[in-house]
Amino acid sequence: MDSVYDIAIIGGGPCGIASAVEAKISGIENILLLEKGDNHSQTIRTFYKDNKRVDKEYKGLDSQTKGRVEFETGSKEDVLNYFDALLDNETIDAIFETEVEKIVKNSDGNFEIFTAHKHYFAKNVIVAVGRMGRPNKPSYKIPPSITQRVNFNLDKCSTGEKILVVGGGNSAVEYAMTLSRENIVTLSYRKGEFTRINEINAKNLAYDVKYGNIILRLKTDIESIENEEGKVLVNYKDGRVFVYDRVIYAIGGTTPVDFLKSSDIEVDEKKIPIIDENCETNIKGLYVGGDLATRSGASIVVALNHSNTIIEHINSKNR
Ligand SMILES: Cc1cc2nc3c(=O)[nH]c(=O)nc-3n(C[C@H](O)[C@H](O)[C@H](O)COP(=O)(O)OP(=O)(O)OC[C@H]3O[C@@H](n4cnc5c(N)ncnc54)[C@H](O)[C@@H]3O)c2cc1C
Repeated sequence: MDSVYDIAIIGGGPCGIASAVEAKISGIENILLLEKGDNHSQTIRTFYKDNKRVDKEYKGLDSQTKGRVEFETGSKEDVLNYFDALLDNETIDAIFETEVEKIVKNSDGNFEIFTAHKHYFAKNVIVAVGRMGRPNKPSYKIPPSITQRVNFNLDKCSTGEKILVVGGGNSAVEYAMTLSRENIVTLSYRKGEFTRINEINAKNLAYDVKYGNIILRLKTDIESIENEEGKVLVNYKDGRVFVYDRVIYAIGGTTPVDFLKSSDIEVDEKKIPIIDENCETNIKGLYVGGDLATRSGASIVVALNHSNTIIEHINSKNR
C-alpha cells in the first residue's frame, strides 16, 4: 500500500509553499508538494519582469499577513530567494515537473492524486494552482503565422522594437514601462482610466506618458489582428490601424476549469470554485487557496492568508 500523506499540496506558488510551511511549523510532518514546473513559483518566474518590485500592498488588497509566513515588499529575486529559503529551512518534500491531472476522493475517505506517472494518496488536499497556467487570450483569433510576435510575458522581447502592450492592470503598466526604456511602446486599454493600478505605477506611468516614453491609448478596443509582412497589424474598433513588431497581452489568467471539473469541485457562474470560510470546497478535506480561490483580486498576501486559514482548519479537525 502506498503511503498516505496528511496533506498533499498541488502547486508550488506562494499559497502552496506557505501551506507547506504553515503545516510543518504546526507539527504536521507528512506533507507532499507537487509542482508542474521545474522549480517553485512559476507565475513569478514567468510573468514578473527581472528586478520587478513586488509590492506587499497590491491593488489595495489586504496587506497584513495573519499566519506564520511573513512577507515584505522586495524585488522579484528577493521573493524567489525568500521562498527558496522557506522550502529549504522547513525541509519540505517538493516534487517538481509533476502536473496533477485530477483528484478523486476514494471510498476509504482518502484522496487519490493523479499524475502522468504516479498516483499519490492523502487525507487532505490543497489546490493552489493559480490562474496563470493559462493566460487569458483575446476573443479574436491570433493568426498562427504571427504567434511568435504575440506574447503573454516579456520572454521574447528584445530592443528597438515597436511594441503594443494590451491591458489595464499593474502587470500591463509595468511591462509597458520596462519595455519603453529600449523600445517604442504603446499601451492600449479599453477603459477610460486605470482604476486597478497602485499609486507608484500610476505616478510613474503619468511621467512616462508626459515625457513621451509611452504612447497611451485609452478607450481603445481591438477588433482583430493580422499578419502584415511578418509584423502584427492591429485593427482598432475606432477604425484606426497600426502595425507593431510585437504585441503583448497582460490581461490576467483563466481558471483551469477542466481540472476542477474532473475533480468534481463545484464552481460558480464565473467558474470560480465555491468555497466556505475555511477555503474548503464541496468535497470535505479538499481545499482551494490563492489566486484560484479569489473573486475580488489576488495577491501574494491574500494567498499566504488562505494557506493560514486552511492549515488552521485542518489542525482543528485533528484536535
Ligand atoms: C505580472 C504580475 C505581477 C504581479 N505583481 C504582484 C505584486 O507586486 N504583489 C503581489 O502581491 N502580487 C502580485 N501579483 C499576483 C501574485 O503573483 C499572485 O497573486 C500569486 O502568485 C498567487 O499565488 P498562488 O500560489 O495562488 O498561485 P501561483 O503563484 O500562480 O502559483 C501556482 C503554481 O501552481 C503550479 N501549477 C499549476 N497547475 C498545476 C498542476 N496541475 N499541477 C501542479 N502544479 C501546478 C504553477 O506552475 C505555479 O507554480 C502579480 C501577478 C502577475 C501576473
